[in-house]
Amino acid sequence: MELARRIRQIPPSATLALNAKAKQLQAQGVDVVNFGVGEPDFETPEHIKEAAIRAIREGFTRYTPVGGIPELKEAIIRRLEEDLGLKYEPAQIMVSCGGKHALYNLFQVLFDAGDEVIVPAPFWVSYPPMLMLAEATPIIVRTREENGFRLTPEELKAVITPRTKGLILNSPSNPTGSVYPRAELEALAEVVLAHRLIVISDDIYDKILFDGQTFANLAMVDPRLKEQTFVLNGVSKTYAMTGWRIGYAAGPAKAIAAATNLQSQSTSNPTSIAQKAAVAALTGPQDSVAQMVAEFAWRRDDIHRRLLEIPGVKSLRPGGAFYIFPNVSAYFDRIQAAPGQSRSGMLAEYLLEEARVAAVPGGEFGEDTCIRLSFATSRERIATGVSRIAEALQKLGG
Ligand SMILES: *Cc1c(COP(=O)(O)O)cnc(C)c1O
Repeated sequence: MELARRIRQIPPSATLALNAKAKQLQAQGVDVVNFGVGEPDFETPEHIKEAAIRAIREGFTRYTPVGGIPELKEAIIRRLEEDLGLKYEPAQIMVSCGGKHALYNLFQVLFDAGDEVIVPAPFWVSYPPMLMLAEATPIIVRTREENGFRLTPEELKAVITPRTKGLILNSPSNPTGSVYPRAELEALAEVVLAHRLIVISDDIYDKILFDGQTFANLAMVDPRLKEQTFVLNGVSKTYAMTGWRIGYAAGPAKAIAAATNLQSQSTSNPTSIAQKAAVAALTGPQDSVAQMVAEFAWRRDDIHRRLLEIPGVKSLRPGGAFYIFPNVSAYFDRIQAAPGQSRSGMLAEYLLEEARVAAVPGGEFGEDTCIRLSFATSRERIATGVSRIAEALQKLGG
């Protein structure tokens, strides 16, 4: 059976193969430290779980409006206004089955075949395939480590063509933890406005910020930009709710209506009871968020310090999210890559076999000099894992 061209163009993820290998080792009883996880290692707070249980008991178990219940849209609108100073109407909000689904819907309605969309690397792994599924062309722009892996106005200008339609920004970033300061966004805003680019602002980590920084996105720096920006967020990361599948997009009503229409013909509404839980998350006590962020900040300091003690390893200090992206390229010449394997993939495989540590190769994010380590794991596992990495790298000769 020949599968559709649409899916044949999407390359399988190399991470999946590595993950399978890690799982296989674990199944054999090998103790693997897993730095690969992309979700908080915390429980969904109790009052959120209770809201979902109450929804079930009260029979809130039927279809809801496709783009989300009014109560949830209002909760989202209030948060966007109170936290970011951005005002929206319910018609400018779409609730989907996770932030990823909201992005997918948006790409489908915003971009056509041949449209170019700029994706700064390192990027979240899902952007290029999701753009390709919309038949758009991802234009990958490599950013520089010395600039904190953040896109500069010059780098942006250099890749804009008459076909450029959009730009994706993700701050704090998965995989680097880098955060765009407001002044840098203001500089980018001029270029974005001059070329009337559609901005997709993936703000999913906006609440996981360290060192007392305040969050900013492009819609906040210029009111004109709000008219061409889609703000993307959800409850997955902030409230440790990855399995509940609630995310949302806020932006110009015409595109939100189109994306909601697409959703009506595919998934229909996101789960009714998860929507009620999301209302509780957004309107209830926020102390769980502060506690989680404080713990992530402690681990960020700890893992950063430990990694810098390894000879030849360099790393930026993440300003947010729960990932660190050390540059391990100093060790590349000491291992032999298999044919077709990326250098970061080769190193990640070596670490899995030699150190029993699972990390994600930077090549997956478009930056082959690095690997991604998630610190959404306990303090003790971080200490164990990094000392195993240090030992394994030392064996290669320093
Ligand atoms: C986790 C994540 C998302 C969306 O996650 P959902 O669970 O689908 O809401 C979006 N962008 C980035 C960069 C992420 O890491």
